[in-house]
Amino acid sequence: MLKACKIRLYPNSEQKQIIASQIGGSRYIFNRMLALKIFAYKKFGKNISKFELIKYATKLKTRDKTLWLKEIDSQVVQQSISNMDTAYKNFFRRVKQGGAVGFPKFKSKHHSRQSFQYPQRVKLNEKKNKVYLPKVGWVKCKGFRKEFAGKIKTVTVSLEAYQYHASLLTDDGIETISINHNNQSIGLDVGVKLVVADSNGNKVEALKLERELIKLRKRAKQLSCKKKGSKNRFKAKQKLAKINLHIANKRKDFLHKLSLQYSENQTVVVEDLKIKNMSKSAKGTTETPGKNVKAKAGLNRVITQQSWGMFFEMLEYKLKANGGELIKVDPKFTSQTCPKCKYISKENRLSQSKFVCQRCSYANNADIVGALNILDRGIHGNNASLQIAS
Ligand SMILES: [Zn+2]
Repeated sequence: MLKACKIRLYPNSEQKQIIASQIGGSRYIFNRMLALKIFAYKKFGKNISKFELIKYATKLKTRDKTLWLKEIDSQVVQQSISNMDTAYKNFFRRVKQGGAVGFPKFKSKHHSRQSFQYPQRVKLNEKKNKVYLPKVGWVKCKGFRKEFAGKIKTVTVSLEAYQYHASLLTDDGIETISINHNNQSIGLDVGVKLVVADSNGNKVEALKLERELIKLRKRAKQLSCKKKGSKNRFKAKQKLAKINLHIANKRKDFLHKLSLQYSENQTVVVEDLKIKNMSKSAKGTTETPGKNVKAKAGLNRVITQQSWGMFFEMLEYKLKANGGELIKVDPKFTSQTCPKCKYISKENRLSQSKFVCQRCSYANNADIVGALNILDRGIHGNNASLQIAS
């Protein structure tokens, strides 16, 4: 089974330079070979094979103008050609299938993420927390986990927001995926904050990001004070990019763990966010805060919505890998319906967190009630309880 693992790299300044030249060389080869392939096809209707391109790249190393390519690891060059060739082939395959069309793009050195790839020969020293990258040498690293030990297939070294990472793709040699689900169905109610309540009565606390968000605001403010084009502005930009990336990674990590936990079920029912967005006022706040607070709350809501969208995607593919499924339902009235007697009323909702049925006195946490109703709707059909609403 293939597994991916991302580790942080801490190259010294000399290694940074070598990495920069590998990135540049890899990009140069990708672009030059893509151009050559397009040219040969347009002019002569000829398809240049991967092996011809690799031969040509070797020749380039002996020419005066491109002698500098000698500095680039030969397998990095081959991998770059291979990646371009695959992107090119995929494009034509997708065209044949009538699918979405994306012609391989030339790589820009202005792109925020720069990378290159090793097909093999990367070694790890777990005890010393070091990774060996050909041409670069032993680089200090952090974040390697034992469960990812195995045969390394490819390693992608990337530079983004002034941070270096290596994404390792390993093969543990085990062919089967272990299915670990419990044949259960569960409903999830996701909140306007990053909180999940489930129909089993559990609540998962939100990811705490207050400290990071305070830092983010501080960094953004610092940036706005710096003179355009100044060195300090560049530094402030670096710092802002760093904290942004950190927050995004933390959020992703949280959602990955959460989706893994719930993917053990056979069926997971969640609300359809698209429908929910159309009737936003249902759960929205009624108070009228100041403009600034409102704008901030709006931004937070957008981020939360995006996060839930990402969470559902992660959940869906993890469920599918386990043979389970994700069902999305219309969330209308799920926060006002009594799960016991199906009575629907705004009055059932005593507060943001308290639910007490005005007909049968059933009481529970309001978010858990939401999750129970979402599960019920997923199992018994989408509009079963909507008719009684008035
Ligand atoms: Zn009731």
